Amino acid sequence: MSERFVRVFKKVDLNAIKKQLLVYGDVSGQCANCDTIDIKINVPLCPNCKTEFKFISFRNIKSHLPKLAKLDAEKPSVTIIDFDDYKMNLGKMKAENLFKD
Ligand SMILES: [Zn+2]
Repeated sequence: MSERFVRVFKKVDLNAIKKQLLVYGDVSGQCANCDTIDIKINVPLCPNCKTEFKFISFRNIKSHLPKLAKLDAEKPSVTIIDFDDYKMNLGKMKAENLFKD
């Protein structure tokens, strides 16, 4: 079996991802769309805004590496986003918006 997890760089629409992203901390997650907290990893929809989680990002990916295989087996449609990339680009977008108009 040669299937392994590797990070892939792809151009994506961060605003679209944010609407369907679960940001997972040490023990629970937060909906990036409405900021609801204490969401379990296996929940398909946000209990508050009902967005479907198609993306998951781990605040500390190193402590969650063992979860990836299970997550992939249970939810193959979910895309795992690198949290540092997400955070860094979100910050850049906010900074760019400050200098608009
Ligand atoms: Zn939500």
